[in-house]
Amino acid sequence: MPGKAWTQQEKELLIRQVGQGRKLPQIQIPSRSPAAINQQRQRLREAGFVSTDSKRKLRLWTIKEIRALREYANGYRLSAARIVRAGLLPGRGKDSIGQQMKRQGLGDPKRRRAGRKAHRLNAQERAELERFLRAKGRKLSSAQVAERFKISPKTITAYRRRLKLRLSWHEARASAQYRQRAETLRRILIQRTRARWTEWRAKRREVLKNLQWQMRRKGDRRELRQCVRCGEKWFAAKEFFALTKRRREDVVTYTMSRTCRACRAERRR
Ligand SMILES: [Zn+2]
Repeated sequence: MPGKAWTQQEKELLIRQVGQGRKLPQIQIPSRSPAAINQQRQRLREAGFVSTDSKRKLRLWTIKEIRALREYANGYRLSAARIVRAGLLPGRGKDSIGQQMKRQGLGDPKRRRAGRKAHRLNAQERAELERFLRAKGRKLSSAQVAERFKISPKTITAYRRRLKLRLSWHEARASAQYRQRAETLRRILIQRTRARWTEWRAKRREVLKNLQWQMRRKGDRRELRQCVRCGEKWFAAKEFFALTKRRREDVVTYTMSRTCRACRAERRR
């Protein structure tokens, strides 16, 4: 009799406990029997969430990582190499990502099939490819030609080089596929940068508060200056308010910002 479907929380709880090296009798999940836990653990193993080899210290894939990988691979059609290059899954190498993609059935099925079917061309096919590359294929990306001839894009590029038919920089850039991928990558990188900034901004105020607290503890009794934006009282020091340098006829003056550094950081995009 199949029980109630496992919730995400239950699965994560199980993954965490397995990750801690707990054996079946020590794994505790409310209202799940050891048999059910065992079965679920097996399922997660097959899906690659749980290591099958406990001796190797593999860092287990989290559900969050898998979800992200699914989006990058299927949604954005990025290859493992591209995901690594863009630093989208920190701490994961190309092999690890490639393996996980295979386990999850991710990636471009057409490209995977093309990869599997890749073969050496016979003389007739070679001649046909050369003809194609000199004519219609000239403006297609190597990936598009590769798809058609069932060989790898790298081979196409090598052919082009040999025939002195490499795509000009302009043509390569104009190829639709190239544009789409570049756009995708750009979007992802912008998103990531934004996320990092948001995180940094949130930390910024905490860091400043901590700094002031420490300075005060060391006996610093500097004059306070109130930020016109957030109303917080900080030490009137360059650590908390930006200084603007002005030079007027050899006389250098500094103006202190009326807005604190935490607020200025928050205003930045
Ligand atoms: Zn402020």
